[in-house]
Amino acid sequence: ALSAQDPQRIFDEIDRDFQLNPELLVDLTQAFLHEIGRGLGAYGHPMAMIPTFVTGVPDGTETGTFLALDLGGTNLRVCEVILNGDKTFSLRQQKYKVSDALKTGEATALFDYLADSVDAFLTQHAASSHEHTTDSPDVVHLGLTFSFPVEQTALGSGKILTWTKGFSAKNAVGHDVVQLLQDAFDRKHLHVKCVALVNDTVGALLSRAYTAGGCTLGAIFGTGTNGAYVEEVAKITKLGNYPAAAKGGHMIVNTEWGAFNNSRSHLPFTPFDNSLDRLSINPSFQAFEKFISGMYLGEITRNVLTALIDASPKPLLFGGKSTPVLNKHYGFDTSVMSDIEEAWEGPNRSLSGDTRAPDFAAFDAAQVPANITKKLERIRTVIVEQLGFQDSDVTLKDAAIVRWACSLVARRAALLSGVAVATILIQTNRASLPDKDGKFPAPSDTEKIGVGVDGSLIEHYPNFQRTLRESLRSLVGEDVEQRVEIGMAKDGSGVGAALCALQALKQG
Ligand code: ADP
Repeated sequence: ALSAQDPQRIFDEIDRDFQLNPELLVDLTQAFLHEIGRGLGAYGHPMAMIPTFVTGVPDGTETGTFLALDLGGTNLRVCEVILNGDKTFSLRQQKYKVSDALKTGEATALFDYLADSVDAFLTQHAASSHEHTTDSPDVVHLGLTFSFPVEQTALGSGKILTWTKGFSAKNAVGHDVVQLLQDAFDRKHLHVKCVALVNDTVGALLSRAYTAGGCTLGAIFGTGTNGAYVEEVAKITKLGNYPAAAKGGHMIVNTEWGAFNNSRSHLPFTPFDNSLDRLSINPSFQAFEKFISGMYLGEITRNVLTALIDASPKPLLFGGKSTPVLNKHYGFDTSVMSDIEEAWEGPNRSLSGDTRAPDFAAFDAAQVPANITKKLERIRTVIVEQLGFQDSDVTLKDAAIVRWACSLVARRAALLSGVAVATILIQTNRASLPDKDGKFPAPSDTEKIGVGVDGSLIEHYPNFQRTLRESLRSLVGEDVEQRVEIGMAKDGSGVGAALCALQALKQG
């Protein structure tokens, strides 16, 4: 528990622990570039830099009908995608829940469930032209979006390296995920053939390229975080004797950047991060992801709030009261932070500006301007409704403190997301870090830089994209930042899997 004589000092220390100044952002970018270089050069590195064997980026003229199966986030999705060849597509999808028992049980049970879901989808939804029973000879082609680290050996095969994001199914790591799925289809006599394996980041990149006519980076800021980008094959030196290496050209690389800082040597951990990590199912893995993504931000914030509730000699929040929601591991969802910040609509702090918490010790509800009081009242309502407090338990000062805690945690996440994007722009020679006088090279290019993104965090969290851009601007300069076009890769995993299945059929 926190203890200090001066309560404001406690707030200030927490505030300071979460700050990232521009110099640190530059250091982090350099460390990130270094890790990328190591991952491209050798297998087995924490930042896996996985070659995907996807060597082309769509231009929007692709056509065909495919099934796509997406495992890796909060839901399992099955969809049928029709690529129209004019940058548009149509898509029918169904979501299925994946229980914790399936996530952590035997792999065969998990993959049987995937096959059952595809079967159910085909029975219910797919165009009548698709017969998938044993009497029909027609095979339906499927692309699998599998958003966990996989060491790919071809477009349609790859070994599971490790689970992330709360999955830990047994007898899966080390096995070919496409084979595991195909075996499940075959056990059920489904006429479905899995021809391509794609990560959700690659899906975001491909689908954005299809709908926008080009794209450089695909990035996910949802349950987890990761990115994939178009790299020169010559720089993927670990490909060694693979035929793909001899062909040259470009290949999409899945960075698995969620593992950046697993060594803990770059990013400053707060006590709240340490607690989250220790109690997670993968301590000391996915260190970067744990600072950034939707699965974890609520939990970090919960750690801050409960520490303030437990502070000694005097509680600093909710008069020392808590609720079952707040007491529960992962009980405080990132979407609640989003709701709280939405109710605030407050100004953003500047990158090199405030390094202290608001003066909560001097907070006097009677002195707060009416427009702020309104906002704090809205936040109080969210807190009461979402965390299960009584109205009388939550003061306006409590509301202000909770808002501050949410914004600290989310702002750090968005700044770090900007580091990841900047790193890729520098790695692909589209940008440079500032020189020692803080100057950037004169603009040499006017081309737009396409970034396809997906995930609830970047889609819904207030100011997330703006703060990401603020960080990006400080790292690569305003000229480059302005040329970056960040667009949602809507339905990216489904469309990306379809595009990848198409590429596999063309190659195969
Ligand atoms: P996935 O990454 O699993 O495909 P999402 O992109 O929807 O799915 O991300 C789900 C994560 O986003 C969850 O961790 C959830 O806490 C968080 N989340 C859901 N809604 C919001 C929201 N409105 N704002 C911020 N985060 C959200």
